[in-house]
Amino acid sequence: MVREFNVKCPKCGREDVLAVGRKRTIVEYRVLNTKNKVAGGHYPYKGNWKQESAKIDGKEFIRCNACENKIDVSEIEGVGEVKIDKTKGALFVNDFLDKFLEKDE
Ligand SMILES: [Zn+2]
Repeated sequence: MVREFNVKCPKCGREDVLAVGRKRTIVEYRVLNTKNKVAGGHYPYKGNWKQESAKIDGKEFIRCNACENKIDVSEIEGVGEVKIDKTKGALFVNDFLDKFLEKDE
């Protein structure tokens, strides 16, 4: 069953502001010129900062682009789970089953 619903940010209440986020750690370096020593053991830089590597840290997450908060999926009204796909986008699964189980208790 396909059900459409407007997903609001649980922190600021705005619609159409959610995004998938990911975190990267970037390692950069700046080479020192260790041949030309300036007085007092001071080695100058050879050039500008260069990037060595950029690694993605952990899993992708849902964030709000308006208030810039990371969103815990359980806080989104009507949503039980979000499945983030590399190419297709994010699938928001409604929490119908959760509600059904709560009623049963
Ligand atoms: Zn927000």
